[in-house]
Amino acid sequence: MSALVTASPLARRYEAMLVAAFPTQPRLREPESWGLTGGPMNELAWQSRWFAGDFGRDFVTTDGRSVEIIQLGWWNHGAGPDFRDCAVSIDGKVSRGSIELDCEARDWERHGHAENPVYEDVVLHLFIHAPETEWFTRTPSHRQVPQVKIVPPESASPMLPNQPAAKPGRCSGTLAHWSDERITSLLTAAARFRLELKSARWQRIAQAHGWEQAIFQGLAEALGYSRNRLPMTILAQRFPLQQLQKHPREQEAWLFGAAGYLDGFAFDQADAQTRSYLRTLWEVWWKYRAERLPDASRPLPAWQSSGTRPVNHPQRRIAALSAIVSQWSRLRTCLKPAEAFVEKDFRAVLTSLSHPYWDHHYTLTSPPQPQRMALLGGTRITDILANVIYPWLIPEREMLWNSYCLKTAPLDNEKTRRAALRLFGPRTDLAETHTRTIFQQQALLQIYQDFCCCDATDCAACPFPEQLHQWG
Ligand code: SF4
Repeated sequence: MSALVTASPLARRYEAMLVAAFPTQPRLREPESWGLTGGPMNELAWQSRWFAGDFGRDFVTTDGRSVEIIQLGWWNHGAGPDFRDCAVSIDGKVSRGSIELDCEARDWERHGHAENPVYEDVVLHLFIHAPETEWFTRTPSHRQVPQVKIVPPESASPMLPNQPAAKPGRCSGTLAHWSDERITSLLTAAARFRLELKSARWQRIAQAHGWEQAIFQGLAEALGYSRNRLPMTILAQRFPLQQLQKHPREQEAWLFGAAGYLDGFAFDQADAQTRSYLRTLWEVWWKYRAERLPDASRPLPAWQSSGTRPVNHPQRRIAALSAIVSQWSRLRTCLKPAEAFVEKDFRAVLTSLSHPYWDHHYTLTSPPQPQRMALLGGTRITDILANVIYPWLIPEREMLWNSYCLKTAPLDNEKTRRAALRLFGPRTDLAETHTRTIFQQQALLQIYQDFCCCDATDCAACPFPEQLHQWG
């Protein structure tokens, strides 16, 4: 890793420590690599990351030409190349056409693209894995397509399988003797570093798709926390905010239909209220599906509902996303560039989200509940603020950083408890003092991710304790 990537002196201080700790090995992971908890990344996940701009825009072809992606185009979920209406500059010559992204370069042949005239306009073939021998991508007319082997961002690296168990780490011996002020200076820098990595991600998406879509995607991702991030993100990519806003009467049915919750549902067995609700969704969805097949029916990654609290069922999260679209003009007002951000107003919009059916149902198959259940609870809203809104706003509104640092964390969680145990060991007083606020928890997660998750030596070769000695 050479040039530092963060902007503020605070974040750079932590980043410089990382560079010193891992001089030959880049360690810039995006916080909480999403979409990775269910195993290896599949093609859909790579495409989602590509479309979000996570791979960047500048590349080199396999034969050494420079490539700039001028337009990411639109993501085609049906038959044909993955991304259409793209613009690509190769050695300065701009071509318009499609981009295909495959896991394996040879998938081009395996999937029959070389014989399929729909692929004739492909101007760039991207792949993650290349064969050992030279291999060419050709269209049905035998035109050679430039190839780029894309290198997954560091954030996409799966966690090491041998993550250490939660026991006090070697660094706890040093940190136990630090003053609260010194620990705070370390945690503040780590938290700022983490925030700037998140900021950079939202900025990348905003550059590709506009700031409102970036925030919308961020909200979808946060609603999918933690096990449904990928399907929620892809849903927001497949149905961008602008499209949903243009179709206020259809948008909810599209989201539920594309999520796969309408096809094959046994309406007859549902109660009267559910039948009526589903009928309104289905009447919109089947028409859309009939017009748009096969793209509308391409399945999303599987939803995970086991182990989630009933109020957080993915169906309620989709309902919340739909309600967000309906209230977008209010949210937009809160987030307008160059205007003061009032957190209370933003919270008020999300707290007021309501739906006649989902206010009283956990799922499409559960009986109605007498008490009203909020679509979004306070903890989730805080999570949205910490992971999406403040990272988006702070680079432009530095004054918000101080108020961010004062925000109390609603709860600690298993991950922060584990990180605190590793870093502070038996000093439970330190763990208690330094996990109360959002920035402290974010900092602990970052250090855990940067050091503990990269260590396979039971702390023996981890550079963090030595780096701590350099921290003033
Ligand atoms: S791996 Fe490193 S950072 Fe993690 S507990 Fe051990 S010494 Fe501390």
